[in-house]
Amino acid sequence: SLFTSLRFLTTVNDLRQLPQEGIEVAFAGRSNAGKSSAINTLANHTRLAFVSKTPGRTQHINYFDFGNERRLVDLPGYGYAEVPAAVRAHWEKLLSYYLMTRTNLIGLVLIMDARRPLTELDRRMIDWFRPTGKPIHCLLTKADKLTHQEQIKTLRAVETEFAEDSMITVQLFSSLKKKGVEKVEEIVGGWFDA
Ligand code: GDP
Repeated sequence: SLFTSLRFLTTVNDLRQLPQEGIEVAFAGRSNAGKSSAINTLANHTRLAFVSKTPGRTQHINYFDFGNERRLVDLPGYGYAEVPAAVRAHWEKLLSYYLMTRTNLIGLVLIMDARRPLTELDRRMIDWFRPTGKPIHCLLTKADKLTHQEQIKTLRAVETEFAEDSMITVQLFSSLKKKGVEKVEEIVGGWFDA
């Protein structure tokens, strides 16, 4: 399937080092939301993206390529409480600048823990990216931690919030149960084909 040919490409820690070529879809989310696990699940690879032991410590942007200069980009996790204010401010600047100006970027996958979606920082990411007119796909991950009823309720609540915005889509996802992989391939794959 689509992302199983994902390979690590490069790590950058400065916006000036971003690759000139290629088209990319970025993965963003709060530290510990399950972003690395989601990328590993999509790649069907246990340790492609590094599952964080100390969340929020890395400011690296990791690039993965799956052929024809198509890339998935693992952005630094945000919202980790123990990060000093100055470091947090630097991330905000980096993330906002990247999301607002990066021309290689064709869409954003926003990873949110299904138990607490749409935190203030998640909304800030959406607010930065929405004006670009590019699509945002929200993954409500760790869905396995909710009952079926709770999953449906959460999905409906987030969908309802963005009902007026055709550029924002939402789905349930679980790396543990490998649930929702095909839907991500369909939606994000569609962005690369457009
Ligand atoms: P990141 O900081 O957003 O990259 O989050 P990680 O992928 O490192 O995951 C954070 C923690 O949540 C780890 O302990 C994972 O094992 C766990 N986790 C991630 N995805 C899932 C999931 O779908 N279900 C469950 N039950 N746990 C998950």
